[in-house]
Amino acid sequence: MEHQQQPQNVSRQNFDDWMVPVYAPAAFIPVRGEGSWLWDQAGKDYVDFAGGIAVNALGHAHPEIRKTLHEQADKVWHLGNGYTNEPVLRLAKQLIDATFADKVFFCNSGAEANEAALKLARLYGHKAGGEKNEIIAFKNAFHGRTLFTVTAGGQPKYSEDFAPLPPAITHLPFNDLAAVASQISSRTCAVIVEPIQGEGGVVPADAEFLQGLRELCDKHQAVLIFDEVQTGVGRTGELYAYQHYGVVPDILTSAKALGGGFPIGAMLTTDRYAVLFQPGTHGTTYGGNPLATAVAGKVFEMINTAEVLSGVSKRHEWFIAGLKRINDRYHVFSQVRGQGLLLGAVMSERYKDQAKQLNTLAAEEGLIALIAGPNVLRFAPSLIIPGADIEEGLNRLERAVARLCV
Ligand SMILES: *Cc1c(COP(=O)(O)O)cnc(C)c1O
Repeated sequence: MEHQQQPQNVSRQNFDDWMVPVYAPAAFIPVRGEGSWLWDQAGKDYVDFAGGIAVNALGHAHPEIRKTLHEQADKVWHLGNGYTNEPVLRLAKQLIDATFADKVFFCNSGAEANEAALKLARLYGHKAGGEKNEIIAFKNAFHGRTLFTVTAGGQPKYSEDFAPLPPAITHLPFNDLAAVASQISSRTCAVIVEPIQGEGGVVPADAEFLQGLRELCDKHQAVLIFDEVQTGVGRTGELYAYQHYGVVPDILTSAKALGGGFPIGAMLTTDRYAVLFQPGTHGTTYGGNPLATAVAGKVFEMINTAEVLSGVSKRHEWFIAGLKRINDRYHVFSQVRGQGLLLGAVMSERYKDQAKQLNTLAAEEGLIALIAGPNVLRFAPSLIIPGADIEEGLNRLERAVARLCV
């Protein structure tokens, strides 16, 4: 057979030609990144306020992360679960030392971390006996795209076409403790919640809500799962958002920023629940592979410092001030919410549901941002984005806003 080389010239059009159309990507293709900057095929520059959807927590191509990646690439990439490895053990210890957890399970994505958490909760319910299998979740929540996690998510439009769905999942209004109090029972095995609903519009949980969930779970012997896939690893200015709230879950899931761009997920839990998973009950081929965990270990070490975490809060203030400056002039947002560097600017009544239009205009002006539903423009930049880049990005945003508001 003749040797076939990879095609040299590819374009955005080829996405429509060759890719299963589950996404509708932007009209340009980024080809290079450095810090909080990206460049596309035409050489145009962009300030990156999206961070690969809250993933590139140390920006693009950070020299220290590159060095770690190269060093591990020269040693060993993958072993399979018949062997453990040094980077995975080091990362597990870092996570345990920095959180409530006693044990860690590694996988490759946020959905897989939540899948493990939900399976562990069901296993716990089975062992407890009776019909302890109900999972309480929340409307507008997002937990991933596997059948179990998408069903736990609170947007029926993402799950209903894949029915029959895993049963015994109840969706209640977010931040409505009374609704949970009246639904939860001895049949409930778990409550799963995002401390800040990310995809659902950057909506923070009330402190009393999370505290109340903790008390209700204790009372009814249910597992409290915090999905910190988006809020974790410094995003909110604490290592994990539960540390802001002072409410400790039984299981916490982490992914996105954990690998700084290298795919990895983790489920953290206590000994009480960890022992329920035994050899053969759950697993994944790549989970905890040395390449991913070496990178994540370095990312975690760099983020888990007083300097980086307090820098997130400082940058939060810069964003808030800059967005206020734009809004004083154009009245395009009704509210800016979120914590640390997970921010949602809610479109005002006049520009209702025009977040995507604004985001497209922003990209034309050289700013990459995100949306969270039709009505919220979302920012999840690098945790170490320089002040000058925030300012430049906000200037570009202002130009986009000016075009939206003509
Ligand atoms: C992104 C996200 C997920 C899914 O993570 P994947 O890596 O895409 O599977 C789950 N939960 C939350 C809160 C997320 O933001």
